[in-house]
Amino acid sequence: MVRQETTAPAGEAVRSSQRHIDALKAIIYQCNRCGQCLDFSTLGLAAKCPAYWGGLFESYASRGKFNLARALVDGLIDYDEELARRVYSCTECRACAENCFKFLDTTAIFTAMKQDLAELGLIPENYRRALEGEMGLDVVHNVYQAPHAERLAWLSHEERVDRPARTAFFVGCTSSYVRQNMAIDTAETLELLGVDYTVLSDEWCCGHPYIAAGLLDKARQSLEHTIELYQRLGVERVVFNCPGCLKTFKHDAPRLLGRRLPFEPLHILEEIARLAEEGEIRFRPVSPKIVVTYHDSCTLGRWLGIYEAPRQILRRIPGVSVREMRRNRNLAYCCGAGGLIRFDYPNISTRAGEERLHEAEETGADTLVTSCPACLMQFQQTRNKLRSPMRVVDITQLIWEQIDVPGKPQ
Ligand code: SF4
Ligand code: SF4
Repeated sequence: MVRQETTAPAGEAVRSSQRHIDALKAIIYQCNRCGQCLDFSTLGLAAKCPAYWGGLFESYASRGKFNLARALVDGLIDYDEELARRVYSCTECRACAENCFKFLDTTAIFTAMKQDLAELGLIPENYRRALEGEMGLDVVHNVYQAPHAERLAWLSHEERVDRPARTAFFVGCTSSYVRQNMAIDTAETLELLGVDYTVLSDEWCCGHPYIAAGLLDKARQSLEHTIELYQRLGVERVVFNCPGCLKTFKHDAPRLLGRRLPFEPLHILEEIARLAEEGEIRFRPVSPKIVVTYHDSCTLGRWLGIYEAPRQILRRIPGVSVREMRRNRNLAYCCGAGGLIRFDYPNISTRAGEERLHEAEETGADTLVTSCPACLMQFQQTRNKLRSPMRVVDITQLIWEQIDVPGKPQ
């Protein structure tokens, strides 16, 4: 725990000791301030960092936050609300890590700062309420303030609930409550493929919102809850349609829990791409033909390294042609939905979404395809705000609509 040496009123700097950031001094000192990660969008060059593009001070970008971290560990400054604003407006897109001249794990620094800020009570107000409020994540196990009992309201296959099975479908909060078509499309695709899968009646949030807030102990509790339920059902692999949930289990869980998962986590796209490659599934032609552009989710791409599976699937659907955006794959620009920044910094989030939607429009495509429920929500809201004619769909919808397997109605 962080020990506060002073109790300061809100808005004033607070000095603390035994901080998480101090343990990362060696990484912080490696930053040579080269600026390779710095976003030069204010000079008219392509933007890299949505927080900088929205915040317009260098302290929002990675180099600026490294400078702040250095000043913290050198004892020159202390945490306060202004510093919290810089850290919590980061979408965790990892564009800075991808561009870092020294290959530094930039987001590890930001997470340590968030841990300290959380322990000092400096999580931004709306975010804190979504976690700890009366209908917050602590109580209802989702960040949409929806009743836990309604988590499976979208499901029409009651026989799948809590049944012992080798495969599980982890639905996630966004699919469960606010983009239920993604949950339905994923489940129906698994049904068509003849997969014997299970879903949990007591599925909790993966824990990502806790990690993004710096509350790692709470994330551990969420993960342990789900892992135990899967173990009881004999689950050996878990299918996700949300890159954020997949990243929490695949990347974060082994680090947070200090052990390997007792099952294999994978994205539904990896499975579909493999089956298509092996000739197990085909796709029906799209009519009329469509031109799509694919937005790389930061989490699926830069965090998990999955760039080609969605493109392979799109290329296999007759009647679909793909046009790449200027910034694609590891250089793709964030949609602005990450890090749950929309709670407290909607302007930064919206600005990123609008820039990315314009980039999609520049390709001349009529359809923007995403592979993440958070990106889907962000682009649908942005399209509506800008009155863009662009259709926005998640790739799970295209797969469900076009997959051609025996038994599927025409
Ligand atoms: S992770 Fe993304 S939003 Fe955060 S500082 Fe790096 S580039 Fe900016
Ligand atoms: S690219 Fe890496 S080394 Fe250079 S300023 Fe950014 S964080 Fe520091």
